[in-house]
Amino acid sequence: EAKAAGRNTHRFFDPGMQQALHERSSLEADLRQGLAGGELFVHYQPVVDHKGRVMGAEVLARWSHPVRGAISPLEFIPLAEQTGLILPLGKQVMRSACEQLVQWAKHSHTAHLSIAVNVSARQFRQADFAAQVMQILQETGANPFRLTLELTESLLLGDIEEAIQRMVQLKREGVGFALDDFGTGYSSLSYLKRLPLDQVKIDRGFVRDVLTDPNDAAIVRSILALAQSLDLEVVAEGVETAGQLGFLRLHGCEKFQGFLFGRPGPAADIEAQAHGEV
Ligand code: C2E
Ligand code: MG
Ligand code: MG
Ligand code: MG
Repeated sequence: EAKAAGRNTHRFFDPGMQQALHERSSLEADLRQGLAGGELFVHYQPVVDHKGRVMGAEVLARWSHPVRGAISPLEFIPLAEQTGLILPLGKQVMRSACEQLVQWAKHSHTAHLSIAVNVSARQFRQADFAAQVMQILQETGANPFRLTLELTESLLLGDIEEAIQRMVQLKREGVGFALDDFGTGYSSLSYLKRLPLDQVKIDRGFVRDVLTDPNDAAIVRSILALAQSLDLEVVAEGVETAGQLGFLRLHGCEKFQGFLFGRPGPAADIEAQAHGEV
């Protein structure tokens, strides 16, 4: 133990480490400021059905840094999660999504669209998480049946009873649940069966090489078969080619998300796409 501590102490004086810590704390300060200053906003990526018709969208956080330009959520979401800034950020994203649902509900060609919101572990573990979501739904007037919350397997590890309870509270109001990045975590099958899920999203890591890697093909087929037997809807993520789409459709996948159907962009892009189908 003392040895481990000694090693850690030593690492703090490593100049590379020092530099990394400095950059992290300066990015944290920037994120805090950016959140307050309106530098964060959202994009929407279409989710389509087997005929390519847009059924909804996933809302994705974006940060336009005044000096560094666009910073990937793969960088700032973990930082927000570590620092607790995910709580105000998550609320902001949830509110944007609900306000968007209300706008879409006003027009016939967009009224059917639903929105999926990513929820981080720290957000979901708040005791009043369900109450917060219900409050945003009430304040905006959004239809809870059009809202899906995306959870990850790692988020659900731990107190599963508590997680189920939290989900059930929101499901009673009409909110749906999806398991995001499915296949990358550690969920056992019995565990999956107990969760009150509506949907699983196949991680794009499996979709990418589905035509060339027999292991990925087998995994995708098993996920589709499993979902079918558990009566879960499946969304395949990261669909970029007609070949991938063909494979997925052949094995029973009914919903798709990926660059083949649209990149994340402003809500107007989704509206234009939905409009073109009328
Ligand atoms: P995710 O929830 O799995 O979202 C899908 C990611 O895949 C998005 O990356 C999207 O742009 C990307 N993607 C979609 N289709 C394709 C494709 O065909 N090819 C490729 N190469 N990529 C595709 P993005 O926007 O960079 O977000 C990364 C992750 O950051 C998200 O993964 C999610 O875990 C997290 N994230 C983003 N916004 C939020 C948020 O508001 N809250 C939380 N908690 N996490 C968020
Ligand atoms: Mg997601
Ligand atoms: Mg995902
Ligand atoms: Mg993810």
